[in-house]
Amino acid sequence: MPIRILPPQLINQIAAGEVVERPASVVKELVENAFDASARSVEIDVEQGGLRMIRIRDDGCGIDREDLPLALSRHATSKIASLEDLERVASMGFRGEALPSISSVARLTLTSRIRGERCAWRVTADGTETDFDIEPAADPDGTTVEVRDLFYNTPARRKFLRSEKTEFSHIETLVRRMALSRFDVGFALKHDERTVLNLRPAETRAEIDRRLALVVGESFLENALAVEFSAAGLSLSGWVGLPTFSRSQADMQFFYVNARLIRDKLVSYAIKQAYRDVLYHGRQPVYVLYLELDPALVDVNAHPAKLEVRFRDSRLIHDFLFRALHRALAEAKPQAVETGPV
Ligand code: ADP
Ligand code: MG
Repeated sequence: MPIRILPPQLINQIAAGEVVERPASVVKELVENAFDASARSVEIDVEQGGLRMIRIRDDGCGIDREDLPLALSRHATSKIASLEDLERVASMGFRGEALPSISSVARLTLTSRIRGERCAWRVTADGTETDFDIEPAADPDGTTVEVRDLFYNTPARRKFLRSEKTEFSHIETLVRRMALSRFDVGFALKHDERTVLNLRPAETRAEIDRRLALVVGESFLENALAVEFSAAGLSLSGWVGLPTFSRSQADMQFFYVNARLIRDKLVSYAIKQAYRDVLYHGRQPVYVLYLELDPALVDVNAHPAKLEVRFRDSRLIHDFLFRALHRALAEAKPQAVETGPV
């Protein structure tokens, strides 16, 4: 076969293969966009497990009318402009591919209104267009993205989706985890008109505890130690479960790097090491931890879905985590025995 350049929709569909695995991945990308737009409130409406419809509305900065077609174009982003920026990304997004990827495998409507604008503006895309029609709309400030009929045009992908119930449970798990990454943002999640989560921005200690309990369970806080540790420009905060609160599976471990939930072998290894002397063999610790560091020290461009990161100095991170948690657990030991759960 001769070599040829692929049509744009197919290029986007290939990219979608990496970032849009299922309805929950759409939710992840759109909520991250809301975070990047400085939203204080994110409303997520889902129908039929997200297979039929996913709608995310935020009260963030909005998109200029002129920029709407760009938002749907590949490699177009307002978040970075140079390699220098890429090497110190502070936003959740930067690749400029989520919206074009999603629109190539679903029917997407983007409606947005920046503060002070007379009305909102709306574009609709199904991945095939080269020109976008922009229509006025009556929406409030902020942005709404509606995604319908995911994978309607890629039957091979659609086949891999599970039941509505399973797909929704992926969405719910994801939203709960994202809610723990940004206590200052309110979240509302509805499935087929039924309210599943309704979280106001958590400001007071009590509100933070309540949100935490809702996500990790009531008993976690009663069995956890608060962690607060800084050294060498790194800071770690959050909660670690007492050794007695361990689980047989590693399913209650949340680790955020600069507000991004990540999975990382080095991180889980360092944490396990810190628990080594206090945890029974085969048991898994429970934790919700936040690592804050200079974005230049971590490469978030390791994977299109951005679930993995690369630390520039992994030894430093390992030692820091080990030290922080080892200390927290050592201090807690006598207390845990004498006074019971903290
Ligand atoms: P990226 O997030 O990597 O920049 P996306 O395809 O997710 O790429 O979004 C493209 C652009 O559209 C963003 O850079 C941003 O300027 C704009 N955008 C997308 N979603 C929103 C939103 N909810 N509010 C404001 N702007 C948005
Ligand atoms: Mg994005």
